[in-house]
Amino acid sequence: RALWFAERSAPLAGIAGIYNIAAAARLSGPADPAGLRRAFARLAARHEALRTAFFEKDGEPRQRVVEGMDLDFQEIDARGWEPDSLAGRLREEAFRPFDLAAGRPLRVRLLELGGGERVLLVAVHHLVADLRSLEVLAGELAAEAELPPPAARYRGFVDWQERMLASPFGEALASWWHDRLAGEAPVLSLADRPRPGTSAGPGAVRRRLLPPDLAAGIGALASSRGATPFAVLLAAFQVLLRRTTGQRDIRIGTPAAGRSLPEMADLVGCFVNPLVLRTEIDDAGFTDHVAAVRRSVLEALERQDYPFARLVERLQPERLPGVTPLFQALFVYQRTRRPEMRALPALAMGEAGERLVLGPWELEAIPLPDRPAHLDLTLEACELGGGLACALHYRTDLIDESTAERLLGHLETLLRSAVAEPGMRLASLPLLTEPERQQVRAWSTGEPLPEEGSCLHELVAGQAARTPEAVAVVDGHERVTYGELRARAVALAARLRRLGVGPEVRVAVCVGRSRRLVESVLAVLEAGGAYVPLDPAHPAERLAWVMEDSGASLLLTEPALESRLPRTEIPQVFAGEVEAEKAVTEGARPIAGNLAYVIYTSGSTGRPKGVAIEHRSAVALVRWARRAFAAEDLHRVLASTSLGFDLSVFELFAPLAGGGAVVLAENALVLPSLPASGEVRLVNTVPSAASELARTGALPPSVRAVCLAGEPLPPDLVERLHGLGIERVYNLYGPTETTTYSTGGLVERGAPGMPSIGRPLAGERVWILDAEGSPVPAGVAGEVFLGGAGVARGYLGRPDLTAERFVPDPFSGEGGRLYRTGDLARWRPDGTIEFLGRADHQVKVRGFRIEPGEIEAWLHRHPSVREAAVLAQEAGPAGLSLVAWVAPREASPAELAA
Ligand code: AMP
Ligand code: MG
Repeated sequence: RALWFAERSAPLAGIAGIYNIAAAARLSGPADPAGLRRAFARLAARHEALRTAFFEKDGEPRQRVVEGMDLDFQEIDARGWEPDSLAGRLREEAFRPFDLAAGRPLRVRLLELGGGERVLLVAVHHLVADLRSLEVLAGELAAEAELPPPAARYRGFVDWQERMLASPFGEALASWWHDRLAGEAPVLSLADRPRPGTSAGPGAVRRRLLPPDLAAGIGALASSRGATPFAVLLAAFQVLLRRTTGQRDIRIGTPAAGRSLPEMADLVGCFVNPLVLRTEIDDAGFTDHVAAVRRSVLEALERQDYPFARLVERLQPERLPGVTPLFQALFVYQRTRRPEMRALPALAMGEAGERLVLGPWELEAIPLPDRPAHLDLTLEACELGGGLACALHYRTDLIDESTAERLLGHLETLLRSAVAEPGMRLASLPLLTEPERQQVRAWSTGEPLPEEGSCLHELVAGQAARTPEAVAVVDGHERVTYGELRARAVALAARLRRLGVGPEVRVAVCVGRSRRLVESVLAVLEAGGAYVPLDPAHPAERLAWVMEDSGASLLLTEPALESRLPRTEIPQVFAGEVEAEKAVTEGARPIAGNLAYVIYTSGSTGRPKGVAIEHRSAVALVRWARRAFAAEDLHRVLASTSLGFDLSVFELFAPLAGGGAVVLAENALVLPSLPASGEVRLVNTVPSAASELARTGALPPSVRAVCLAGEPLPPDLVERLHGLGIERVYNLYGPTETTTYSTGGLVERGAPGMPSIGRPLAGERVWILDAEGSPVPAGVAGEVFLGGAGVARGYLGRPDLTAERFVPDPFSGEGGRLYRTGDLARWRPDGTIEFLGRADHQVKVRGFRIEPGEIEAWLHRHPSVREAAVLAQEAGPAGLSLVAWVAPREASPAELAA
């Protein structure tokens, strides 16, 4: 019944022949088509199943055994056919749907290739047969003596099943299975692509032969725990899926014979019943896991008479479009009970290499291409020539060929390691093959960028010496040349130095967005110090806290902002009020290893933390930018990002280090109203701001490149920007802790799915690691660790936190450090990186990095708050909003709100 309903809905999926069982083989032996036809006719006459018609009555399936049916046997003259036409025809015959009402669910084709070569194709509908039935049929085909009539009828099985299910035994089976499988079932997350709505799809297969030495190792490992190779392979398959998907609750189907009644042993019919084997994989050693698998298989086999279809009916799992119920991966270990049929499993799997002798005939398998897939993934295995043949069938509309190939490689690596070291913990078993390991290493490393030893302001000074007349800053209608900018910065720097600024000295900078901001930053660096940006828009308490925490020894600000600033003991200097100061030459000069700036980011324990960036890191960013973008692009760059957000480092220094100009703006959205808007070539901002610009169509035609960073880039935004005539859209990724950008790339036009975050930038290293700290293979999610030139010195004054997040780099061998980002990502097969979200609770709201924990910690400080929780939630067209929930201690919610 279940198959009949499934078969009926299959055409809706546009895939024919999902439930056809088919095999093809090269046939040698007597060239006697008539004899072969007679042999098959005899089988069809013996077995009612092979002449059963199915039809519908009142919406229900009915079946009728047809007497004297004529066998669907055809000889096909295939002499002179190209291999492609032969394969095409075989495929077509194998998977062409059966007319079930006609009562001919068996199809036999004999293709004459000429030169004595022939191919036999047998296809039978799953409604009337299973793999065991093929074994029965093969045995009978070979038999010369007259066969006794079958011991029972399929009908008898159906009646028995009905009675059994209604009995207390049946009830016990039901409740056992329900207990095991009730509740929410995770969907195997293997898909490379978004899942189409159909629960079956076009299929393909990748094959791999595990060599005899490995097969012997598997056998030995199995017997050490009283298990079989079946259990070892299944255990390995579970671990493979667990490690690949990151899911713990793994459910794999495996067929049970379903022939508990002895008289059904040699019957042709559909008895097979998939058992759902569920494991919550913990961190056992491999052999212990094998022992657990063995136990769970035995338990399930004892209860194999409970039909899967009934289980689905009873459990009523949530029907998700395109998802098969209860399991999406199947494991089949093909075996035979009869020694003379040793070659049959390989034949059923389409594995060449063994010959099956059937009476006067000999068969050798020919693989049938593109078998439709009714599950996401099926692993089939059988013994073959002392080794183990593995075939991985996969839905090609979900899973890439390269992924399937990789999975097989991982299965082998995993099995090899398990055999070599059976006690090894599951999480530590290596997956990557040696070529993959090298591949990932190559992907991880950006182009070399030799250290140069200069400081950020020196890059600007060098440019000012070359082009003193060129425009450096555009501030409304005002234009400041490099010569003027530098003269003012040097004068202000002289004053700062007199006030004690020098290497490692922090200067808080709270200046509005005018040319003075650029002058102030440069002046602090010229003086040898490090700037600590204070955003004038932030609350006074926060500014006071940052000044204190950073240990700033001076505050550089403007009279107009004084009223907003907190009262502070720190001496103030007003930017712009520089008399003709003489440059100061004495005193220490900063070197590349000195601090350039300290930017504060949200901290999950309630206090923001200052990220301490050295000149060498910022210089590496600028040097990358000057390679990645043409001088044309950097000629006029919109500088609209707050100094407190490290996108500003790129916006200011990429143009100023190479003769371009910074076009200042209060924020990105005012771009269209800037006097110099028609000159801007490059815009660097967060996707949420770019969306707003694109929505209003307000990008000036001069803009050629848009760099987006700081939060996931929606694919439709890329399309819209291209639609507005933007030539190039870049997706750039990186946390403040590794100096603005660590990976990036041009977003390909019209590529499906989420844009990647590109590859490691020059001088950077990216590792995607699993929970054990091992590099993950392509396609597998892991945490992003960043190394290279951009890695910060650490968190200012927070050695504990620094040690937690900045860890030794075990891969570089140069004593480097890696920053642990908390971001999840995976390699795509082309070596670009796909961002997958966060491993913790950090959120981005319109580009702002926020630890909900910081807000929760503040809420907790209120005496009336017992508990607090903060989440970023979608709030309609405005995008994400922060929402806080509080549970009051005693006060009423109204009091709290007040
Ligand atoms: P911030 O330190 O403010 O630059 O924030 C860094 C975090 O923003 C990263 O750890 C990511 O979670 C996120 N992020 C930055 N760039 C991107 C990007 N291009 N795509 C997705 N997320 C990003
Ligand atoms: Mg960043």
